[in-house]
Amino acid sequence: MHDQTIEHQPSCEDELNIGLLTVAQAQARILDGVTPVTDAETVPVREALGRVLAEDIISPIDVPSHTNSAMDGYAVRAHDLPAEGVREFTVPGTSWAGRPWPDPIEPGQAVQIMTGGMMPAGADTVVMQEQVEREADTVRIGSGHRCGQNVRQAGEDLATGQQVFSAGRLLSAADIGVLASLGLGETRVWRRLKVAFFSTGDELRPVGEPLGPGEIHDSNRYTLYGMLEKLGVEIIDLGVVRDRRELIEQAFREAAESADAIITSGGVSVGEADFVRETLEKLGSMSFWKIAMKPGRPVTFGRINDAVFFGLPGNPVSVMVTFFVFVRQALRKMSGTTGASDVLTLHARTTTALRKRPGRFEFQRGVLEQVAPGEFTVRSAGAQGSGILRSMSEANCFILLEPDRTSVDAGEQVAVQPFRNLI
Ligand code: AMP
Ligand code: MG
Repeated sequence: MHDQTIEHQPSCEDELNIGLLTVAQAQARILDGVTPVTDAETVPVREALGRVLAEDIISPIDVPSHTNSAMDGYAVRAHDLPAEGVREFTVPGTSWAGRPWPDPIEPGQAVQIMTGGMMPAGADTVVMQEQVEREADTVRIGSGHRCGQNVRQAGEDLATGQQVFSAGRLLSAADIGVLASLGLGETRVWRRLKVAFFSTGDELRPVGEPLGPGEIHDSNRYTLYGMLEKLGVEIIDLGVVRDRRELIEQAFREAAESADAIITSGGVSVGEADFVRETLEKLGSMSFWKIAMKPGRPVTFGRINDAVFFGLPGNPVSVMVTFFVFVRQALRKMSGTTGASDVLTLHARTTTALRKRPGRFEFQRGVLEQVAPGEFTVRSAGAQGSGILRSMSEANCFILLEPDRTSVDAGEQVAVQPFRNLI
């Protein structure tokens, strides 16, 4: 359901409205606030893997292009087959895959045929070679066969003129195979989305350097890199930016010039030397949202010129959760992907008790296991602090606990979202 608050576009006034947003409201606002890229490019079909189709694909040919055999066997006319007993056929030759038997089939003939071999004119049925007795140039065939069996009709996979794919499709391995089966060597895809990111914080040290007192390594640029790689976007890593007004402003200007989307982590907390928010207010427009979720609030969403901005919290797990919950679907939409979300929600029985206080939507880290086909258990991946990246790396799913839910006992059902293939 859409209501006024959900339709609302981001604006500076949001900042005054400090009330908590629900996860669904924040998701809807962000999705409403982004638009897909509009430039397309033509790429060879293999390079289209993982890209988003920018055109509808209409089949230029029938696939298969000719009626052919699904089995190794003998092509016959169904009404030559015996209703009972056995009949002997003469075998004039063979139809190989790619080397058809040239002549129409004559009454009483059975043309040997290989899988994929073109059906001789007049033949409508294939009898498997295991079901016949071959001797020199004859073959004996019994009763019980069905007219049309073991035959693949021209165009039964795709017919000429049929719409195969619509624009907005994220192309899979099977999809590029289908494009190849149509004989298409290249295809139009939306240009890759450009996403810039940087970390903020005086305490951050790049990897490979020893830590000084009070310093930590910058891990967020690595998790962000990994999650963006999975989306197939073009990544612009702007490094670590110190908590200084001029440096942050410069980083934002640079990012806005080169990217469609900018992601930062850290520096948006209340009470922190808060140059990210100030800079955003100066250069563009922003909304500062407290979201009733754990971990991961607050989140900033805004715009600098044509680029959209996602300001994520600094804590390593919060970065990943807010990316998964808010940024990912927005970037998919911006990349031109249409259609439903690719996130699956499953039900699982928790084997560990889960601590939860009512009020916020919690995304807890869990380890999902399939104990029988379609039957799942989940357990907590360990300590749930928003700085504890280790339990995030142990986990393969989020356990979704609705705001009004309280602690969960072992044995209860919970909703989970597997994320291993997604982030
Ligand atoms: P902030 O939102 O800047 O107040 O950061 C919240 C917490 O996340 C602090 O403990 C920061 O040290 C930590 N943090 C911020 N940025 C990063 C980063 N890039 N990598 C790892 N931890 C970070
Ligand atoms: Mg900070």
